[in-house]
Amino acid sequence: MIYLEQRGLIYPLTSNSYTHHSKIKPNDWGWPNFSPGEIACHGDGSIVVVREAMNALQDMRDMLGKPMIITSAYRSPVYNASCGGAPMSKHLEGVAFDILLHRIERGQLLACARDFFTGFGFYQTFLHVDLGPSRSWAPSRKAKELWRL
Ligand SMILES: [Zn+2]
Repeated sequence: MIYLEQRGLIYPLTSNSYTHHSKIKPNDWGWPNFSPGEIACHGDGSIVVVREAMNALQDMRDMLGKPMIITSAYRSPVYNASCGGAPMSKHLEGVAFDILLHRIERGQLLACARDFFTGFGFYQTFLHVDLGPSRSWAPSRKAKELWRL
């Protein structure tokens, strides 16, 4: 079970796990601007679909009104370790997304993200969003400058 913690309250989330994203039936995928393949682990193709997180991603996309390129979403523990992800990364729970900065203005992307997500990682070339506890980080001084933090 995956839980969402907000303002001291804990909510269970609705999730489904698949050993490979190709096992998802079309009727079980309700997010028109995203495909199971782009949300699945880039290592082994496995996926944890968290309905509330996918709804937040689709709502953000609808508000933005432009394509959003997801470079990393769900990660298996093995893949997360191999790509240097944090041991407690929200990518392991299927509630985190890295959104490429491509033909999107930083301020506009962040404004839309803040309406639907609670955790933010500010990187030079992408924005990390998640449904974890409210917090944010920037890994470099350059990233802080770019995002005007
Ligand atoms: Zn991330």
